Amino acid sequence: MAELQSLRLYNTLTRRKEEFVPLDAQNVRMYVCGPTVYDYAHIGNARPVIVFDVLFRLLRHVYGADHVKYVRNITDVDDKINARAADEGISIRELTERTAKQFHDDIAALGVLPPTVEPRATEHIDEMKTLIEALIANGHAYAAEGHVLFDVPSMPDYGKLSNRTLDEMAAGARVEVAPYKKDPMDFVLWKPSKPGEPSWPSPAGITEPGRPGWHIECSAMAGKHLGDVFDIHGGGIDLVFPHHENEIAQSRCAHGSQVMARYWLHNGFLQVEGEKMSKSLGNFITIHDLLQEWSGEVVRFNMLRTHYRQPIDWTRKALEESKATLDRWGEISDRIGGALLEHALPDGAVIDALKDDLNTPLAIARLHELAKDARSGDNASGEKWLASAALMGFDVARWHAPVQSADLVEVTDPDLAVRVNTLVAQRGEARKAKNFKEADRIRDELAASGVILKDAKDTATGEIVTTWELAR
Ligand SMILES: [Zn+2]
Repeated sequence: MAELQSLRLYNTLTRRKEEFVPLDAQNVRMYVCGPTVYDYAHIGNARPVIVFDVLFRLLRHVYGADHVKYVRNITDVDDKINARAADEGISIRELTERTAKQFHDDIAALGVLPPTVEPRATEHIDEMKTLIEALIANGHAYAAEGHVLFDVPSMPDYGKLSNRTLDEMAAGARVEVAPYKKDPMDFVLWKPSKPGEPSWPSPAGITEPGRPGWHIECSAMAGKHLGDVFDIHGGGIDLVFPHHENEIAQSRCAHGSQVMARYWLHNGFLQVEGEKMSKSLGNFITIHDLLQEWSGEVVRFNMLRTHYRQPIDWTRKALEESKATLDRWGEISDRIGGALLEHALPDGAVIDALKDDLNTPLAIARLHELAKDARSGDNASGEKWLASAALMGFDVARWHAPVQSADLVEVTDPDLAVRVNTLVAQRGEARKAKNFKEADRIRDELAASGVILKDAKDTATGEIVTTWELAR
């Protein structure tokens, strides 16, 4: 089915839903702010990771997997990191390496694709210094007492993303009024390091060693990997001000560009059982904790039942409902002998829902309909259902009951095993030759004799591996 609907995204910068038109359809570019690695990531951190994974998958579907570049950084220099490493008596490197690995393990369980590039802040210090020096040279930043500060009043339209005037921001923000600042809103690009803290030679004009502020990291990494102007910048809504506002100020003023990214996307807040999540309330949930009790797929599904811009209330009840749905879907998938076939296409209505500003609740409602049709024996709907769920990042191959490998199946009749294995091999050849009609015919023939085939992608090789078992 031809997909006619264009992709539309809500742009925080313009405060409306806009048609997405990439600068270069051969090279669609997206940046999302990643974690600061000092502790297990909490469920609030998982939200942008999952939401922008869905967008990444959708962009790959629309523009082709080789034409989308997704950059998500790792912040590995930060006051919280320094403090935690000192507390534990380990090196900063040890802490950031351990935490980055925990983060990767957690989000892999959530079915999240690795980004195209995952830059680390400490590997981009030179790029940050180059940006800072450019900002000093063109009058948008100044050095004072070992710091470099961005001169906010030098940028007339500062505050456009958060839609606030300078006065409003100054009133609303708890800005640090330091004696070396020309204006209270000026923010740190570079600061001196205390003894024992990580430090690097400072930008030109400052003799003492120092380290970067947080905002400059993202400007430097986005600029290096995506260019001065790119398509999409994402993150949680809590980052709009000041982090994203400051990223825009730095990048635009350094590069002399009108925008940094053309579409700014922000996911809503996450609460737990109706309350703000906090360590003091004792309702602080890490992804790691959740995965002890729930599968990553349940967590992912539960997250996507709410539209990404809406606030989400993370509750046990909702998790139980999500699990019940996925259990039921697993049974249906089993019953239809459903394996995701290579040529199966996702459903047009699911794609259209996702293209409408990532309307995942609507897409999931459509998955329910397709699952119902699949259960009543409509194989075409079954294929669309599985292909659509796979597009949304669900590992449909695992929806089946545990599959036994062909070698392990206890088949008392050796002739039968030989016969089935021969047909399975023939079907594999037919699929390689893109003769899906023949492949499906063999599957149906085997099904008629009570042999159920299961296809799964070998994650190591990317090859489809077919196993089989006898229906009870
Ligand atoms: Zn950022």
